[in-house]
Amino acid sequence: MQSPAPESILRIVLPLPLRQIFDYLPLENGSYPQPGSRVVVPFGPRRLIGVVVEIVAESNLPRAKLARLIACPDGQQTVLTGESLELLKWCWCYYKHAPGEVVFNALPPLLRRPGGMLPSPQLQYCLTTAGKERLQQAVGRIPAQFRLLKAMRDGAVSGSQLREVSPAWRKTLARLMEQHWTKAEPQQAPTLTATAGPVLNAEQQVAINAMGSKLDRFHCHLLDGITGSGKTEVYVQVLKQVLQTGGQALLLVPEIGLTPQLLRRLHKRLGFEPVVTHSRLSEGQRLKAWAKARNGLARLVVGTRSALFLPIPGLKMIILDEEHDASFKQQDGFRYSSRDVAVKRAAGLGIPVVLGTATPSMESFNNASVGRYSWHRLRERATGAAVPKWRVLDLRQQTTRGGVSVTAMQAIGETLEKGHQALVFLNRRGYAPVMLCHECGWHAACPSCDANLTWHKAGHILLCHHCDSGTGVPVMCPVCNADALQGAGEGTEQLQQVLGNAFPTTPLLRFDRDSVRRKGEFERLSEIVKAGESCLLVGTQMLAKGHHFPQVTLVVIVDLDQALYSADFRALERMGQLMVQVAGRAGRDELSGEVLLQTHYPEHAALSVLLNSGYESFANNLSIDRKSACLPPFSYQALLRSDAQHKEDVRGFLEQAKQRFPAGRAEIYGPFPAMMERRSGRYRWYLLVQADTRSALHLQLDEWLLEIGKISVTRRLRWAVDVDPQDY
Ligand code: ADP
Ligand code: ZN
Ligand code: ZN
Repeated sequence: MQSPAPESILRIVLPLPLRQIFDYLPLENGSYPQPGSRVVVPFGPRRLIGVVVEIVAESNLPRAKLARLIACPDGQQTVLTGESLELLKWCWCYYKHAPGEVVFNALPPLLRRPGGMLPSPQLQYCLTTAGKERLQQAVGRIPAQFRLLKAMRDGAVSGSQLREVSPAWRKTLARLMEQHWTKAEPQQAPTLTATAGPVLNAEQQVAINAMGSKLDRFHCHLLDGITGSGKTEVYVQVLKQVLQTGGQALLLVPEIGLTPQLLRRLHKRLGFEPVVTHSRLSEGQRLKAWAKARNGLARLVVGTRSALFLPIPGLKMIILDEEHDASFKQQDGFRYSSRDVAVKRAAGLGIPVVLGTATPSMESFNNASVGRYSWHRLRERATGAAVPKWRVLDLRQQTTRGGVSVTAMQAIGETLEKGHQALVFLNRRGYAPVMLCHECGWHAACPSCDANLTWHKAGHILLCHHCDSGTGVPVMCPVCNADALQGAGEGTEQLQQVLGNAFPTTPLLRFDRDSVRRKGEFERLSEIVKAGESCLLVGTQMLAKGHHFPQVTLVVIVDLDQALYSADFRALERMGQLMVQVAGRAGRDELSGEVLLQTHYPEHAALSVLLNSGYESFANNLSIDRKSACLPPFSYQALLRSDAQHKEDVRGFLEQAKQRFPAGRAEIYGPFPAMMERRSGRYRWYLLVQADTRSALHLQLDEWLLEIGKISVTRRLRWAVDVDPQDY
């Protein structure tokens, strides 16, 4: 190829926390890597991996100042498709984040480092005619070879499948190749062999028809279905339609929702194994999944938040399950909402996006209310099971043990007597959230955070749940020396102890981050529950999501009162979602269920609406309140967050930044301390910018950022922009 004269300039992003794109000259030999390619460049004394994002005619810098690329490690292959590059560009503009960090976040970790290589094409292995004939004969002297031949009897298999047959498969396979009994070929996308599912009910059918009629264009579907209404079945049916036309699809789930159970179900119904990716996989596994998406071998990718950025050339549908879930928002570094970016990506591609949930976020609720999204309601349980009934337990003047009232204890006892299962929900792990001195009132606080230390009795430790630092449990009060230390309040560890004492013969399973640490442990406990024997489940929100426990007929919600009077305007929304999600565990099959809500505020208005009229009315009321208070989603917000070891530094910086805020339609407020002002030894404050349109907000933010960049700050001070913040 002839290079244009003069040489064009490559615009390259580097994995640095800088809002800058760097200009470089092409390789000496004049070859130009395409946008989306990885390159090695000199950066001061270092060599860095970069990604080309654009090729332009001119640089703002004199050519003499520009350095040249050192290498193109992937040759002509790009790591980003044109489409994913466009999406990432939109992301760094919209979220005002360092372009390099945005782009590198989208690459599998192995490709972020020099030395990391694109994987070679995956092979699969199958029998030749001679191999098939060999298989007809007797086993012979080499059973290892015979086992491999047998594994290929029904068609081509991958290396990892052969490894399951024989750990030394490579050597054996080489022998088979020498004999011309087997051959290797590039791996192919699996075939769809969908098995029939249950007969759809009317609500499901309506939703599927509506989605099916708009597969060829951008459209947002809110699939608003109560727990057990058969949302997953709807996903399966529309996925089938998309895959049948040869498209690829992406299913995003919350961190906690990616269970073997869901994967087995998809495998069974679609006839092939989806490609899975999430951050707990090894780097090698993530690279493999990435490569399968990139080269079209993955027909369906199932993953958490970051899977959204996979290059998927044949992408024809995106589904987000549990769209309200907080884990879809990345809360540090490159802060983005995978829900919003998913909608953006679908719009750019002209494909449909499905947002599924039993408890829509206020954003999606509003979008559906004004008709921007199609709203598909599933209000019946697919199995015909009854919806659980709520009962409010007034905690005032009740005695409690481990936080559980006498009435709730009785209900648990009756449930267990019937041979059923009961679930007790408390969203606090540990033994007690506070340890205090009964003599002088001292309490154990984290030295680095504005938070109390949680007493973990079994682990003999006081632990900060915000910075993870811990100390031993003192025997005496460190202030008055009295032997009067005790826990205040309760966590799941205490709940387990109290319930264990009350029901000593009933198996008790605890689900929280302390008790379910090891991989596979959650599955092991779930299997015990699903076996159906009478038992007690105790746990945090780990129990609230996506898992079917058909034998649970009683749910006790120990304490959600804090959210009722929180300073965070989203606290009520989250409480409502959590309550409905937890309640959804009860009575899923032929057994109907009851949910007991313990509270000190039985007359709280929002609570009453939720319990008496359901989530949609609850959300509607929240929506009215938000609108009259001009809060999101009826206004648009961004935060300038900053933190440092000294409060004065943070405040000083934010005051200066505020002074430089340009005039316009957006308003600026603050500086305010974060909800938790000090965390891990750093003071955290923010400025709030709010506007009544998105465009007004962004116009002023862009202008403002240029100004903020001019403020000189010490290296110890950090600042970042959080667009569409979810917490404060
Ligand atoms: P959700 O995802 O909304 O919680 P699921 O899709 O998991 O609901 O469905 C709940 C249960 O109902 C599952 O066991 C599923 O197999 C079953 N189910 C789904 N649709 C139907 C249907 N149309 N008829 C009978 N059972 C169904
Ligand atoms: Zn004391
Ligand atoms: Zn701490």
